[in-house]
Amino acid sequence: MAGVVLEHLTKRFGRVVAVKDFSLSVRDREFIVLVGPSGCGKTTVLRMIAGLETPTEGRIYIGDKLVNDMPPKDRDIAMVFQNYALYPHMSVYHNMAFGLELRRTSRAETRARVEEAARILQIEHLLERRPRELSGGQRQRVALGRAIVRKPRVFLMDEPLSNLDAKLRVEMRASLAELHQALGVTTLYVTHDQIEAMTMGHRIVVMRGGAIEQVDTPLDLYNKPNSKFVGEFIGSPAMNFLKGTVRQGQVVSPYMNLALRSELLAALRGYEGQEVWVGIRPENLELAPPGSRENLIRTTIKLVEPIGAETILIGSAGEASITARVEAEETAAVGETLLLQARPDKVHVFDLQTERNVL
Ligand code: ATP
Repeated sequence: MAGVVLEHLTKRFGRVVAVKDFSLSVRDREFIVLVGPSGCGKTTVLRMIAGLETPTEGRIYIGDKLVNDMPPKDRDIAMVFQNYALYPHMSVYHNMAFGLELRRTSRAETRARVEEAARILQIEHLLERRPRELSGGQRQRVALGRAIVRKPRVFLMDEPLSNLDAKLRVEMRASLAELHQALGVTTLYVTHDQIEAMTMGHRIVVMRGGAIEQVDTPLDLYNKPNSKFVGEFIGSPAMNFLKGTVRQGQVVSPYMNLALRSELLAALRGYEGQEVWVGIRPENLELAPPGSRENLIRTTIKLVEPIGAETILIGSAGEASITARVEAEETAAVGETLLLQARPDKVHVFDLQTERNVL
């Protein structure tokens, strides 16, 4: 097994800079998730590691070996895609065994490895079937099985679950996590799915425009986004953003009066009279208890969504759209203007120009 080190990787396609000065050190056995908007370069990073694209600049190490000039087949990597193509005329067994047979692995060894992978993936009873006789989730397991039997040093997975329905995705997410526990293979995983990123990643890499915006553990990314972009991208429903002016220990606007906790007070010392972005997550807002005077946001409710365990209130405060996750029994009427109260210890403040977290 092996870690993966990427040093100053850049990839240009003509005039498009798909990946820009990307440096990352993935530890042996680590599960790293790459997230970011469409076109930010996630797939290109994986393809460079696999050897399917040549970096314009930079170095790639797998284990301690520089692999820039190593052909894909010698890199000892297995890639699993969203569109896994199984061979329709071959049985599940042969789909999984095929890669090993190509590598002239002995029959006994091939059988042992396929059976072990099938056991881990719980598809032992499907080995004689053809792909068309399988459900979507079963097919995806076979695609994973094909990757596992090779015992690669690194797994590269590009949205492997995105073709599955919601329920299957949840199941496969758990299976993948167990698989990683069992095999401990270093994994780089691309996804659009917030929950996959938060639950599966030891660390998450948030990309933007080909570059790394932030690398952190899921909880640190959630609690300490270093930019408005990350705050907005991680978390669902998304963080609320309001513009306000720093004034005498508060951030104020016609719709809000937020008292700044001491660390924010210190960080905003040079900002008196200036506008900033305030970021508040939906779960850090509640209906203000009567008599509340501070940390209030005057919100006009547009939509009330009771989802059982909690209620989602969607409204507006001036130009800002506001979403609050409140307790199920706290409700409001559409069209009503009410006061929401923010938890001051959970408020984020971003510089208006740079959009960087001021802390
Ligand atoms: P998505 O989430 O939509 O899959 P992504 O983050 O994986 O996107 P990439 O597929 O890596 O993004 O693409 C990054 C950028 O590079 C995009 O602007 C894309 O159009 C461009 N690009 C990727 N491959 C090529 C190519 N072979 N030729 C030209 N441009 C390319």
